[in-house]
Amino acid sequence: MSDAGSAEGRAAIREAARVIRDGGLVAFPTETVYGLGANALDARAVARIFEAKQRPLNDPLILHIASLDDLTDLTSATAQSDATALGSLVAGLTRAFWPGPLTLVLPRSRNVPPIVSAGLDTVAVRMPDHPVAQALIHASGVPIAAPSANRFGHVSPTTAQHVLDDLNGRIDLVLDSHATSIGVESTVLDLTTAPPRILRPGGVTREQIEHALANIGQRLAPDDPQLLPRIPRNMPLPSPGMLPSHYAPRAQLALCRDTDSLLAQRANFAARGLKTGLLILESQRQACANLHPQFVLGETLSDIARNLYAGLRALDSAGVDVILVTEVPRSGLGEAIADRLARAAAKAVETEANRDHD
Ligand code: AMP
Ligand code: MG
Repeated sequence: MSDAGSAEGRAAIREAARVIRDGGLVAFPTETVYGLGANALDARAVARIFEAKQRPLNDPLILHIASLDDLTDLTSATAQSDATALGSLVAGLTRAFWPGPLTLVLPRSRNVPPIVSAGLDTVAVRMPDHPVAQALIHASGVPIAAPSANRFGHVSPTTAQHVLDDLNGRIDLVLDSHATSIGVESTVLDLTTAPPRILRPGGVTREQIEHALANIGQRLAPDDPQLLPRIPRNMPLPSPGMLPSHYAPRAQLALCRDTDSLLAQRANFAARGLKTGLLILESQRQACANLHPQFVLGETLSDIARNLYAGLRALDSAGVDVILVTEVPRSGLGEAIADRLARAAAKAVETEANRDHD
């Protein structure tokens, strides 16, 4: 299928909804990345997500809903309870960003099985802006718990083929639609602390959230670069996307300051006999002509976000040892892109350190 509205699409969604209601696993497109969904209210179905992804149980999932009314059963804070401070935050933010790539962390209702939230007393919820995701949630009649549909720690999938490359044989069904339009995960915003705090940068930018909060007389907690080292080991993670090494390709990823440094590093790695792939911008095409393999991301931050994971996967498939990419500015969508690049590169450093010590 590719279209939620066609007869074929509607039949595929009916079948997928049946799988969800029967406790199975369905991978489906959203505007951010493909998700791996199960009935969020069925603890055994949710456990299968962790098993299929080989995801540790201390890494909580996001609940996906298709209407604001669905919030009522999942959290004590709803958009309707405008009288409370939390209620007015939920109302203001859902009005501004839902459906869309913003996940809200809220107090968890007892209806939500603890496994969904890794035992935390909070729950993460979002309303995806994608016709297939919305139709699936409606047809299932339950909230759908869904992390990204990849093996744990690997690059998130932006096409149905990426899902199959990671999870074929481990899930019941994939709803195959177009490549996702945003390409990086949702922004995770914690509303259980005052002021609200971004736990993971994503498809909605810090600037957009600041603007929406200002409209309701609220502000955002400043970016806290010290956040990561303070997370105690073996505790449920406030946000899985906060792991230092995540979103990682098999190859080593190295970040370069500019095109000159990218070319110098490529020559350096080549001299060491390493096969190097380039993730480049349109504007770097000429400087990198005849340097293969290469993958062109486009030019704008939206292009880079949309194509980044496909690029990492393509260069991995080409069998490179090292992937080189230039850094992006940390404003707007650049914050999410820089975050993913840093975490993808963190794995590479560990891998190289391990190699050195083996
Ligand atoms: P994934 O979609 O694979 O990136 O995983 C789900 C994401 O949900 C994680 O990266 C977390 O950022 C987020 N998340 C889920 N539940 C919670 C929660 N209760 N508190 C904070 N973050 C959460
Ligand atoms: Mg993920």
